[in-house]
Amino acid sequence: MSGILILGASHSGVAAAAALRTAGYGDAIALVTQEVVLPYHRPPLSKEGLTKDEYALTPLRPESFYKTNGIDLRPGVLIADLNRAEKYVISADGTRYPYETLIVACGAEPRRLPSAVDPGRIAHYLRTHNDLVGLKERMANAKSIAIIGGGLIGVEIAAIAVQKGLQATVIEAGVRLMERTVSKSIANYVLDRHEASGLKTRFGAVVTGVHRDDQRGVDVVTLSGGETIETDMVVAAIGVVPHDTLAKNAGLAVDGGILCSPEGLTSDPSIYAVGDCSAWYDPELERHVRNEAVNPGQDQAKIVAAAITGTEMPPKKLPRYWSHQAAIQIQMAGNVHGSDMEAVLKAPASGAFSVLGFRDGHLVAVQAINAPQQFGKLHGLIGMDRDALATALDVEFPPSHHH
Ligand SMILES: Cc1cc2nc3c(=O)[nH]c(=O)nc-3n(C[C@H](O)[C@H](O)[C@H](O)COP(=O)(O)OP(=O)(O)OC[C@H]3O[C@@H](n4cnc5c(N)ncnc54)[C@H](O)[C@@H]3O)c2cc1C
Repeated sequence: MSGILILGASHSGVAAAAALRTAGYGDAIALVTQEVVLPYHRPPLSKEGLTKDEYALTPLRPESFYKTNGIDLRPGVLIADLNRAEKYVISADGTRYPYETLIVACGAEPRRLPSAVDPGRIAHYLRTHNDLVGLKERMANAKSIAIIGGGLIGVEIAAIAVQKGLQATVIEAGVRLMERTVSKSIANYVLDRHEASGLKTRFGAVVTGVHRDDQRGVDVVTLSGGETIETDMVVAAIGVVPHDTLAKNAGLAVDGGILCSPEGLTSDPSIYAVGDCSAWYDPELERHVRNEAVNPGQDQAKIVAAAITGTEMPPKKLPRYWSHQAAIQIQMAGNVHGSDMEAVLKAPASGAFSVLGFRDGHLVAVQAINAPQQFGKLHGLIGMDRDALATALDVEFPPSHHH
């Protein structure tokens, strides 16, 4: 058959379908995905999805979008195998979906606690709308919550739990919150704010056991130091694992994600991969990079659409992320771990500011707290020389504060 098959209809897969049509692709596009609901925004699951009692779904696109654009959306289809020689994928119920070009956009799933740690599988996880429903049901009757993992999602859940009046404890194996995604200065500021609201934390704490004490009606979390935390519920937010097994079994090059060229091509010339499941080669960093955020996957979708249709490549964009943690909104762009000097720029509103990260005198990263307008302006200036930036912004940066 002619046409493109996209495997996985979430942020990246739907963006790929849309970008192909925008780029003028005229042949068939089919979009198969395991989830049964209309493809939806995932970030709200740990934000307004948790705070709002009546939260339904926020669809990525209205149902009419798929029909209007001739995109054959097939929800509720779990793909079990990929046959590259004959160019089809096959669902768990045996239906074949042929392709001329395949775009794999099958994302990632939460990393689970080992069964030796959580034999009764009592920890909650949050990735899908279904997960949210279960989590909220439990939370409605809980007075306390233990969250394993101090990354973005764990902290978002914790901040909302505190706001709802639960006693919340974040258990983090590392030494600080959000180590992978924000700089130490931002993490410390955010930690202070959350602790002031009542959040409890344990750092350097490895969870060795999670079990239910039925007699006492509590969940018990045991830490490596021997401490136990009694709680009404446990959530584990300890990162994600890319869905790359299907690709691996089919013989594609895989190493912590499906390995792709800078244009998203896998080791098979008929197969591209985008989003959380893929690791694209970054010529500047000279290694493959896997992102776990909405914007990078959407940017990749546009690049793949351009590569397939032979249209003009979109300009290269830096990864951008955001996080809402109750009253704190964080936005970040660029390489937040790459700076050798930071400067703080106050924004007009109280408690709002940006941290600018410089390396060798050039702006390499911007992180903003409750300063969306400032962020909007600053992130476009990444790459600029420090003195030129000071002139452009009409500010004086403090003397170098190396860290
Ligand atoms: C709670 C939460 C909060 C988040 N907050 C933010 C945020 O604030 N900002 C941000 O940038 N990012 C955030 N993220 C991350 C963001 O949601 C992901 O980066 C994004 O969803 C990745 O999109 P994707 O399309 O690549 O993969 P996914 O969203 O993982 O979608 C993959 C889809 O493929 C389907 N699939 C997988 N395997 C198969 C198969 N074999 N057969 C059929 N279908 C299959 C899956 O069911 C799924 O629907 C958050 C994620 C979560 C879970």
